[in-house]
Amino acid sequence: MTTEVSQIFAQYREEFPHYLEFIETLQNIHLLRNEKAATRPRDIFTLSPVSASRKLKADQPLINLKEELLNDPTPEQYFLELLSLAENEHPSATAAIRETLAADKNAYRELIRELFARETNLGETAIARILTISTEAEELDLIPLLLHESLKPFFTELAANLNTVIRNSGWNQGRCPVCSRPADLSLLREEEGKRTLFCLQCDCEWPYKRLQCPFCGEEDQQKLSYFTVEDGNHDKYRVNVCHQCQRYIKTIDTRKSSSAINPEIENLVTLHLDLQAAKEGFK
Ligand SMILES: [Zn+2]
Ligand SMILES: [Zn+2]
Repeated sequence: MTTEVSQIFAQYREEFPHYLEFIETLQNIHLLRNEKAATRPRDIFTLSPVSASRKLKADQPLINLKEELLNDPTPEQYFLELLSLAENEHPSATAAIRETLAADKNAYRELIRELFARETNLGETAIARILTISTEAEELDLIPLLLHESLKPFFTELAANLNTVIRNSGWNQGRCPVCSRPADLSLLREEEGKRTLFCLQCDCEWPYKRLQCPFCGEEDQQKLSYFTVEDGNHDKYRVNVCHQCQRYIKTIDTRKSSSAINPEIENLVTLHLDLQAAKEGFK
């Protein structure tokens, strides 16, 4: 497993040398995550298949961290390990957050609640994404990434355990059935280009209409379009935009990739598309 992932990272490093530093940060996170994976993550959400199914059928995502505070201390412990991992490369950002955590024992839980409130509130002016770089400094926005990562083992475990329930629920919204966040990526799969949406928080994938905006549900073809960025061999990427809500989602055509794709790394190596979308006024 670990060798496989490091091979994937090596490939991406070669293909996208200008993202070398970011790829390394992500790879370090992966290494720590894999170490953790040796022990099964605790079931911090305690949700039975029956109540999960009931929620999804009522169009409710399984977990709503915007309102529920986490009670289990395990994610925060993992977050502290992630901070240590990032300390050398990002001393000031990690020192500031440690200070915040030291000052208030509920700080971590509150940060998580705020993060999910921001990301799941589509009425807000901008969508906060799982991975962003500031346009001026060209630096990774590290803390949100680490906050998301601190919950990742628990969300992916939940999504995997309830995989059958989720698949049978007929979920067809633009937000993730597990964590409520808006979809991070759009994927085209199979011969006829069937579309799915993907959540990087939960590694959850679900079907979605090919010609519909995942953020506002717009289906009027006049209001939906896409652009691509000319950069040699990378014609598997495009950016779908909606002129109704001015939002965008990156689409990866998996049929144009010879090997299985890793959505997390794909999201990272297409950051130039996020910058381009922002330049064109999409959020
Ligand atoms: Zn999710
Ligand atoms: Zn829209």
